[in-house]
Amino acid sequence: MKVIKLGGKALAHSSEFENIIRIIQGGVQEDQILVIVSAIGNTTDTLCHMLEQAKNQEAWASEFHAFINRNYHQEADLTDIFSLLQKLYEGVYLLEDYTLKIKDLILAQGELIASRIITAILNKKGLNAVSIDSRQLLVADEQFGNGQIKEDLSRMCTSAWFDQLDKHQIAIITGFIASTENGDTITLGRNGSNYSAALIADFLDATELQNYTHVDGIYTADPESVKHAHRIDEIHYNEASEIANLGASVLHGKTILPLLNKNIPLRILNALKPQSHGTLISSKPTSPGVKSLSVQNDVHLIQLDGRGLLGKVGIDARVFSVLAQADISVGLISQGTSERGLGFIVKSAQASQAYELLKKEFASDFYRQDVNAIHIHPDISVISIIGQDLSTFDKPYASLVKNKIIPILFSNSVTGKNVSLVVRKDQSQKAINVIHGQIFGMAKKINLFIFGHGQVGSALIDQILTSTVTIRQKKGLQLNIVGIANSQKFIFNETGLDSDWQEAIAKSGQPYTIDDVINLSKEHHLENLIAIDNTASAAFVKDYPRLIENGFDLVSSNKSANTLSWSFYSELRHLLKGNHKEYLYETNVGAGLPLIDTIKLLHLSGENITKIKGVFSGSLSYIFNNFSTRNVPFSQILQEAVNLGLTEPNPAEDLSGNDVARKLLVLARELELKNEWEEIDIQNLIPTNFHHLEKVDFFSNLTSLDEHYSKLKQQLKPNHVFRYIGELSGDLQLEKGALKTQLIEVPMNTPLGQLKGSDSIFEIFTESYGDNPIIIQGAGAGASVTARGVFGDILRLSDKK
Ligand code: ASP
Ligand code: MG
Repeated sequence: MKVIKLGGKALAHSSEFENIIRIIQGGVQEDQILVIVSAIGNTTDTLCHMLEQAKNQEAWASEFHAFINRNYHQEADLTDIFSLLQKLYEGVYLLEDYTLKIKDLILAQGELIASRIITAILNKKGLNAVSIDSRQLLVADEQFGNGQIKEDLSRMCTSAWFDQLDKHQIAIITGFIASTENGDTITLGRNGSNYSAALIADFLDATELQNYTHVDGIYTADPESVKHAHRIDEIHYNEASEIANLGASVLHGKTILPLLNKNIPLRILNALKPQSHGTLISSKPTSPGVKSLSVQNDVHLIQLDGRGLLGKVGIDARVFSVLAQADISVGLISQGTSERGLGFIVKSAQASQAYELLKKEFASDFYRQDVNAIHIHPDISVISIIGQDLSTFDKPYASLVKNKIIPILFSNSVTGKNVSLVVRKDQSQKAINVIHGQIFGMAKKINLFIFGHGQVGSALIDQILTSTVTIRQKKGLQLNIVGIANSQKFIFNETGLDSDWQEAIAKSGQPYTIDDVINLSKEHHLENLIAIDNTASAAFVKDYPRLIENGFDLVSSNKSANTLSWSFYSELRHLLKGNHKEYLYETNVGAGLPLIDTIKLLHLSGENITKIKGVFSGSLSYIFNNFSTRNVPFSQILQEAVNLGLTEPNPAEDLSGNDVARKLLVLARELELKNEWEEIDIQNLIPTNFHHLEKVDFFSNLTSLDEHYSKLKQQLKPNHVFRYIGELSGDLQLEKGALKTQLIEVPMNTPLGQLKGSDSIFEIFTESYGDNPIIIQGAGAGASVTARGVFGDILRLSDKK
């Protein structure tokens, strides 16, 4: 025989009860069934609400009228029930009060109504159903509102009733309610029909209990707050009861216990989805590992601090006995070995009472200053990870810290494998997503904010958008571009922006400050945040500290942050370290070439770098590679470089040598040299007498450089070529190195001399490699290679999250 329990929400959602009829018809064909029902929809809440209204002298009659007239209430004759309810409410209204006994009698009507209605509907369909009042079957003590079942008596009554039952009839039994030995009506606690169903299944040796709800089963986390939460197929009783105790709403804490003796499996099913498999709860061992995450938000943390607590015996006993006397149950408890403080969790509703009781209990200890303070923290949540073994908790924990979520308390259970964390309430949603992503190995979501969508920025956005699917498949990373900004406007979409981002920013971009961006990331509880700076703005860099402090890692192609003062540079590093954040900028030098990383590693591994020399600029590479070998005026080649998009919008910027100097400074600082910008010896390629043209009218005066450069070329030694190089030299073990950029002549047959196109070349001289430098050479400029480099940095960061 199977017991089928129909939940109230499942009943309410069933359009004209079709699903319910289908379930029962299906059940009957397979086996004998007993059906337990709870009150339909929000009936219990409505009955409660009217009771409060009546007690508070408010008009309850109109709600009562609407209640009576609910559509489904027309399916059966309920006059006796409604007239009883009416009398009870009138009485409460008169007395301005009610007892728990009266309340139970009122709430019980919800289940009685449901049983009658379902019975009537089934009978109309030609099924042979009979409405059964469970007050005949279950006997409880006198704890109204939370009746404790008298097992032996209830078992006897239930069996006796069942023996009498005509087995052709389908019994539709009320859940939730029982009677006392005096014959009073009592309820078994909210959501108690699950418990009734489990008891009856146990008493009658059912082969299975099927619990029809409005959800697909038990989930790895609440699907409303964790998008990637998924249904658990099978789970052991023990794990399920942990989940139930921690507040999973589909499962009532007391439900599992009656099923254990006879190993009756419990299946949670969705009444509204006939195809769904649900979750099977049984004694079958399941594979080890985390099963589920839960969050409790209706709790407060109470903290007791005191110097005098050290070594004193009996303090804890006093705390807990005071609370026990007031029937306040304590959840997670934490006490350090120094015994200077004690922290524990209580239900929010009982927190202030607990606080007052403790203040009273410890009044004299306060006086003696043994207890210094009792704090109550309302804004916390408890996250529990069911099935978590401490040996594998390092990763989820590290992710939390990286996401700036530092648990306030941490507790693991001695038996069983559960870990609970107390976190700030405003962080709980983010925390559960971070942990869930780590544990269930689902695509880890990386939330990207991209600043600047010029050539590099837009190339990057396109590259990311075209590779999201492959990256999700190959690396388990979900790259989500949630924000795109230019210097004026910003667009945001929590679920990720699409290929129509250009139109979106034009149409709905909003002015913004960096705080707006930070606030959005908080409001939406976004985890794994990366801010990407593809601007060339020195002003934007001033926002880096705010971003770092608010949980962002940084990637940039913008060199500014590395080329402002040494003090800014080192403070930024300090801040990054303190906040466990990273800042990657491989493209600052040599675009996508793996240069910074190589230098970093060499330096870290203790290799003495003695000199770095090379052609650092793609545009200057092109200009001098061509000018040295072709017989055309300098201005023509410059124009070609402009046309090819190799130069800055104003080519004077390239010719000034500043870009090369900046790259040189980035490299120097990688070696921990404390050089400042002013100390770089920069050769400006625009002759002094043309400097005044740099800003205003440089373009129309390109030819004015020709004379100067043709003179230089006439003096070029045979088999030599021009190269504009950056060079870092001196004793690099000292505080500062010598930084210089200059136009030199080199023999054609050297690596530098053989450079082609707009390639960059870097020669890294080190002590172990001697005179043979490590050479890194390749396309060192261009929007798409730079964007690739930035993308690489993003992936490198994502891997570490
Ligand atoms: N109708 C009762 C309640 O809402 C019992 C139940 O639904 O299980 O608490
Ligand atoms: Mg690079």
